[in-house]
Amino acid sequence: MQNLYEIAVSRASDADERINYWREQSEFVDWIEKPKEILTKINDYFYQWFRDGKLNFCYNALDKHLVQRGNQVALYWESNMVHNSLQYTFNELHDHVSRLSGVYRQFGVSKGDRVIIYMPMIPEAVFAMLACSRIGAIHSVVFGGFSALELSGRIKDCKPTLIITASCGLEVNKIVDYKVMLDEAIQLANHTPICLIVQRPTKQCSMVIGRDFDYYTAMKFANPVECVEVESTHPLYILYTSGTTGQPKGIQRDTGGTVVALLWTMRHILGLKAGDVYFSMADIGWVTGHSFTVYGPLLQGCSIVLYEGKPVQTPDPGAIWRIIEKHKVVGFYTAPTALRAMRKEDPNGDWIRKSNISSLKSISMAGERCDIPTYNWIQSNTGVLINDHYWQTETGWIISCNFMDLHTFPSKPGSATKPSPGFVIKIMDNENKELETGQMGRICVRLPMPPSFMQTLYNNDEAFIQKYLADTPGYYTAGDAGYFDQDGYLHIMTRIDDIINTAGHRLSTAAMEEVLLKHKDIVEAAVVAKLDDLRGEIPVGLIVIKQGHDVQASILEKELVTMIRHDIGPLACFQSAIIVEKLPKTRSGKVLRGTLKAIVNGLQYKMPATIEDDSVLDKIKLNCLNYGKGMGQYCNLDFGNKDIYVEE
Ligand code: AMP
Repeated sequence: MQNLYEIAVSRASDADERINYWREQSEFVDWIEKPKEILTKINDYFYQWFRDGKLNFCYNALDKHLVQRGNQVALYWESNMVHNSLQYTFNELHDHVSRLSGVYRQFGVSKGDRVIIYMPMIPEAVFAMLACSRIGAIHSVVFGGFSALELSGRIKDCKPTLIITASCGLEVNKIVDYKVMLDEAIQLANHTPICLIVQRPTKQCSMVIGRDFDYYTAMKFANPVECVEVESTHPLYILYTSGTTGQPKGIQRDTGGTVVALLWTMRHILGLKAGDVYFSMADIGWVTGHSFTVYGPLLQGCSIVLYEGKPVQTPDPGAIWRIIEKHKVVGFYTAPTALRAMRKEDPNGDWIRKSNISSLKSISMAGERCDIPTYNWIQSNTGVLINDHYWQTETGWIISCNFMDLHTFPSKPGSATKPSPGFVIKIMDNENKELETGQMGRICVRLPMPPSFMQTLYNNDEAFIQKYLADTPGYYTAGDAGYFDQDGYLHIMTRIDDIINTAGHRLSTAAMEEVLLKHKDIVEAAVVAKLDDLRGEIPVGLIVIKQGHDVQASILEKELVTMIRHDIGPLACFQSAIIVEKLPKTRSGKVLRGTLKAIVNGLQYKMPATIEDDSVLDKIKLNCLNYGKGMGQYCNLDFGNKDIYVEE
């Protein structure tokens, strides 16, 4: 007998039956006009979901809950930066959002216009997102604190009618001056929108007369507005992907397909019921922030928790667990990097045990592969389902994971379990030949993609086709490499660029990192390829030592070399482990492997716009040079500067 997961997979992937399957799923949406056309093929590259349907996104996330849950808390705000907590019922959220839509209108924003949201994790950011969809404006959330240059690129690309921002964002021991960056970005972009500014008590900013308007004053005089009807294919948002350089890559997402897919996700992946409390730590600047921090749980009638703070240091590694206890959180969403930070400061889970987290049923994470030691740490200290979600900004929801309310598979640490219904994944080699079970290759997903997949790159259909669809006809190329194991579990090992070719052997740097992380003294590791005259590429490990552990570099390195030889094989040619204080990361927690690779190869690099702490790179350079000068075991590596320029 097929289980519910198998039934859903076979229905959602069958050419005829998928129409019925997704029609049934669309019944959970409050449509103004129900779609009759479920899936429309425009040409070999473009498809549309629920094309003739009409709806309003904000109505589905907010207004539709008012009768039954008007007095239920919709939004809890916890700030460990300003030591404040607030809460808003659905009624109160509706009041703020509908008036903010009125403010947008007053400033000339109408259906189809773009609004950039450049905000810290404060309630007004959530109001700002919902207020756009209420009037059919297309938002583009730009991660708060992105540089002026990056922000200006997005302004130039989507030409917003209005930008909503705050006077500042707050980091540990640092105030990030959003307004200064905004002023510079507008100048650079040569496009002047209206700016609506939330003045934060911590630091207020000056205003440009005629261009800048105070949020609270505008809200005082605002008239609430009702939801407007939009087509299912009307863009809900544009989200620029992280790590891009040059031409901005604006992922454009539809409205109808997104409501359908997110409701599916909430029910079947997270197992959420209306009234549950969901806490996602993902910043609203990322796709996970859109789908899990704000939209998905609200669509499902859940309460969301918005957190301004860090997993550690604000003030301690118990911060998250206290919030979970306080709000009886049912599901928690984070990234492996946050868990590693917590593990580093709480290796035995003592901080976790200080709180009563018995309400919690699952912890999900995404953004990168979760290494096995971190997985085991969180699993053994919480006892809940740990769900490794594989997804991308491009897909809008989860490509592969475990399913709480469909069929919960036994977890396998290091694997993103099984593909979500609708994602027909094939593992292909470079010649588009399908590979066998166990063989690692390119992750390709058969077209048509399920609902909520990106519609295109904003204003750039050609780049969309070239980047994602041209290489493997009939498939979407995810840009990752992985394999299916004997049990059909998907293992995402690395970005395609991170596969290392040593003496003709294709090796995963992620697999090597996994081995390094098994060492008792190591808390974080990145393995990157260094060009080698003899073998093409050889792996170099950059490692971070656990706090308080005293190690001797050469002995540690020998142990690591032995471990890799044992677990992966001598063919890996792993010889070098360089101790560094910190790994360079994006603000969303991804290790900047491209830049590390450049440093290790002595190449010039552009400072990645998304980097969290730019002082890390110079220190790593120095670590490499010192290592090359003879402080490590193998000293024949040249880390000197070459005149070649690369970008992350
Ligand atoms: P982004 O669009 O910035 O969220 O990044 C998506 C990329 O993050 C994917 O293409 C993968 O390379 C990586 N990624 C996301 N989730 C996972 C996961 N669970 N396991 C491994 N890699 C992941």
